[in-house]
Amino acid sequence: MILKNSPVQKITFKNKSFYVKRDDLLHIDFSGNKARKFYYFLINEFPDIKRVVSYGSMQSNAMYSLSVLAKLKGWEFEYFSRINEKVLKNPNGNLKAALENGMKLKDIRDLELEIVKSDKNLFSNCKILDDILIIPEGGRCKEAEEGIKILATEIIEWAKEKNFKKLNLFLPSGTGTTALFLQKNLSQSPTFNFQFQVYTVPCVADKAYLKKQFFFLESNEKFHPTILNPPKKYRFGKLYKELYEIWLDLKKETGIEFDLLYDPIGFKTILTNFQFLISNPLLYVHQGGLKGNESMIARYKTKFGKI
Ligand SMILES: *Cc1c(COP(=O)(O)O)cnc(C)c1O
Repeated sequence: MILKNSPVQKITFKNKSFYVKRDDLLHIDFSGNKARKFYYFLINEFPDIKRVVSYGSMQSNAMYSLSVLAKLKGWEFEYFSRINEKVLKNPNGNLKAALENGMKLKDIRDLELEIVKSDKNLFSNCKILDDILIIPEGGRCKEAEEGIKILATEIIEWAKEKNFKKLNLFLPSGTGTTALFLQKNLSQSPTFNFQFQVYTVPCVADKAYLKKQFFFLESNEKFHPTILNPPKKYRFGKLYKELYEIWLDLKKETGIEFDLLYDPIGFKTILTNFQFLISNPLLYVHQGGLKGNESMIARYKTKFGKI
């Protein structure tokens, strides 16, 4: 499988113009930031690995991308989660696709037992144990840098073409892995007098959590993105009418489908900071996740009916 450069598109939203890096279009099966994060495992040979093991939510984007990777590589894929029987009976979105790719879904409580027995730090990093590849929740590990470095290179080339000497970038964070390695690799660009500033917003917890994640991956603070606060506290995965509405507005005004978990919080944050964010050209990184929208849309429709 080859990942081609993803395109950049100019859009207008709420009468402001900016650019979108369409990483959702990287590849039909393997796209978004999870494709960048797992790129290292895609392109290198691991003759000893027979199985990949990870854990997280039952609708995780990382879970789906790992199922694609495992299928391509001929690895078994075991995924531990808090199992909701009702959801499992009628799987949709990421879960349905991952099960179709052969994922074995297991009860997280069994994993917890195993961890207590063996190693508390089992999932602190990506690692290979005998013939098993261990992947932390959300793919947060140092190996993710390899693919994100390529994303940074594509962005630098594009900025050079456009002759943008200064560029603001924005992407919403979960583990913060993508934002961090993007800032680091843009800052280390050999092109002098280019200034790239990455802005992000924490979606799964608060600023302090995200900062901790950054330090886990990179001790030099000079490479950390700038963290903005969301206009209000949103609980991750919870449904908010205003988030669905901004997602619908985005689709209507730009023609682009964004993800429903992270991007609406991202754009809410952009709107409250538009003035300074667009003082330089602004590039929003679309991190994919569209397979997960299927289950989110179903939940939104059940909760709010037609909006
Ligand atoms: C996983 C994901 C994120 C968060 O990425 P991190 O590297 O964990 O910060 C953001 N947006 C989408 C669509 C994702 O799938």
